[in-house]
Amino acid sequence: MRILIAEDDQVLADGLLRSLRSSGAAVDHVANGSEADTALITGHEFDLLILDLGLPKLHGLEVLRKLRGRGSALPVLILTAADGIEERVKGLDLGADDYMAKPFSLQELEARVRALTRRGMGGTSHTIRHGPLVYDQAGRVATLNDRMVELSARELGLLEVLLQRVGRLVSKEQLVEHLCEWGEEVSNNAIEVYIHRLRKKIEKGPVRIATVRGLGYCLEKIPH
Ligand code: CA
Repeated sequence: MRILIAEDDQVLADGLLRSLRSSGAAVDHVANGSEADTALITGHEFDLLILDLGLPKLHGLEVLRKLRGRGSALPVLILTAADGIEERVKGLDLGADDYMAKPFSLQELEARVRALTRRGMGGTSHTIRHGPLVYDQAGRVATLNDRMVELSARELGLLEVLLQRVGRLVSKEQLVEHLCEWGEEVSNNAIEVYIHRLRKKIEKGPVRIATVRGLGYCLEKIPH
């Protein structure tokens, strides 16, 4: 999962980065609204935007307005001042999905991040089921036929991206985008190696990662 944080308070941003990275996400940070806008326009494959509203250069509400104006459905969690009720309402009206008023607990923020990124996965709990394979997003544990599967952080990240897109083709470039932060290098060859390892661990019974030659991978649907 890849998250963009737009927050000009460096101390708060550092806390968010640490907390979200420790829960396994790839996280990028910008400190003003115009950089946030640029990062969002250049089409990185973010799964979530955490957007402070009181940003220099371009107000958070403007960043949000422009994002939705481009037709993006990216989940957005806005951060507002404790007394910022009016801004909060404006943000929600402009298409923010959730908000947190400062100060907030990082634990609650992590739970809300999980809830938002689950959207579209068809689950309301923190587990994703795919036949005999169950992924617990909160605990970062996967089980197959009720047995724990030992996966590295990268393999878990990869599995999460594929589980969020069952039955859909995911290119190697998309996988790199969802797994890596700016400045992090993961080659297409490395992705092939991770996929190879993941397959050996989870391809039992009906669970199958198909290779679409030259295009990417697809976690195949399991017929009911
Ligand atoms: Ca601010």
